[in-house]
Amino acid sequence: STMLEVSGLGHRYGGPTGHQAINELSFRVEAGELACIVGPSGCGKSTLLRSISGLLTPTSGRVELHGDPVEGVPSDLAVVFQDYSRSLFPWLSVRKNVEFPLRSRGIGRDERRRRSDEVLEWVGLAESARKYPWQLSGGMQQRVSIARALACRPALLLMDEPFASVDAQTRFELEDLLLRVRKQFDSTVLLVTHDIDESIYLADRVFVLSKSPASIVADIPVDLGER
Ligand code: ADP
Ligand code: ADP
Repeated sequence: STMLEVSGLGHRYGGPTGHQAINELSFRVEAGELACIVGPSGCGKSTLLRSISGLLTPTSGRVELHGDPVEGVPSDLAVVFQDYSRSLFPWLSVRKNVEFPLRSRGIGRDERRRRSDEVLEWVGLAESARKYPWQLSGGMQQRVSIARALACRPALLLMDEPFASVDAQTRFELEDLLLRVRKQFDSTVLLVTHDIDESIYLADRVFVLSKSPASIVADIPVDLGER
């Protein structure tokens, strides 16, 4: 079934005479797929993700999540950003960071604890639950961000250049981590990157964007077999 359907999506910054960042974008992501959006720097990838997540209101077109129009910021959607250092709360422990969005969703204490134990185990941070973000390496902080997103059991996980701020070795570890956890949690993932190698390694499907205002110039199914 279709998880995400984007139709004729456009966003113009700064009113009618402003800058058209994306234009007439249409594509769909099936449930259980890991899709990558790849395109040059400045082509509108972040604008696209922010329009899908409801952080930006599109100026044309529409976004549907399992058949329902997206209005505001849907609670069955989670986002992982490139800048992990600004996305974690420094005054909360790793566990409390992971549980934070569960609190806002009204999930009770026992269930929060159960879910944070589960996802921290899966990202290899069970031993670090009581630590604070500043006590962790950049790669470990990004693992916390991924754990926090997965704990919400999102219908769709959006990732904006999630591995662009870590060193190459850590990036490989995190890419493999993503491939493992998305199987474990049967997640649907839409990840944007400027790195074509990364997109081919990770994705079941790669959408290639043109330079700004972005439109889809290729839609490539990828099958690398077992990884
Ligand atoms: P990418 O993520 O692919 O690097 P962005 O979505 O960040 O691209 O930006 C796409 C285009 O929109 C760029 O030309 C950028 O300069 C412009 N842009 C991004 N954010 C804003 C903004 N808040 N106001 C005006 N223009 C913006
Ligand atoms: P629990 O019931 O899971 O033990 P607590 O009520 O003890 O959680 O809160 C744990 C920490 O989470 C507190 O130290 C508090 O600083 C932080 N916290 C809780 N809610 C918020 C919030 N809305 N904004 C910022 N921090 C919060």
